[in-house]
Amino acid sequence: MFRVNLTDLDRKGKQIVEGTIPPDDALWGDLDDGVLDYPVDIHLTLTTTASGQVLARGALTTELLRNCRRCLTDVTVPVREELNLFWSVPDELRGSDEKEEDESIRWLDPTSNELDLRDALREELLLMIPRFVLCDDECQGLCPLCGINRNDETCECTLEEPDPRWDALRALQND
Ligand SMILES: [Zn+2]
Ligand SMILES: [Zn+2]
Repeated sequence: MFRVNLTDLDRKGKQIVEGTIPPDDALWGDLDDGVLDYPVDIHLTLTTTASGQVLARGALTTELLRNCRRCLTDVTVPVREELNLFWSVPDELRGSDEKEEDESIRWLDPTSNELDLRDALREELLLMIPRFVLCDDECQGLCPLCGINRNDETCECTLEEPDPRWDALRALQND
């Protein structure tokens, strides 16, 4: 489904590639455990240029599972990102430093008649994983002393007042 025959694509000039990759697909094998708990929907329109480059534009839609950075509860993050992928024939760009530094360019394998989109899709998904997620902007987080979730419970822990035992220790150190 995500392997495109380049001869066919050249002949037709345009090809729709769409499908769903399940969350347990081997493709996602190196993602953090549990990040992906939902199928990944892909919709791409592939076109070629006269010089043999392949363009793929479309969208990736899924849901990611993350932990709230304050209270650690599971947070489902809906993802819908535009895809704008570009493959070029290596020979064409040789000698052009400017373009070779562009990391968004992927290279076609000159020995293959097939373009496998899957690696690129995995790379794109990795970039979409949010680093920091909050269950709510107002999340109260966990109590650092007793560990309760302060969104659900309250505790008697006091963080502001220093422990008197440390006062005694400090007094000794200052002597
Ligand atoms: Zn939270
Ligand atoms: Zn507490």
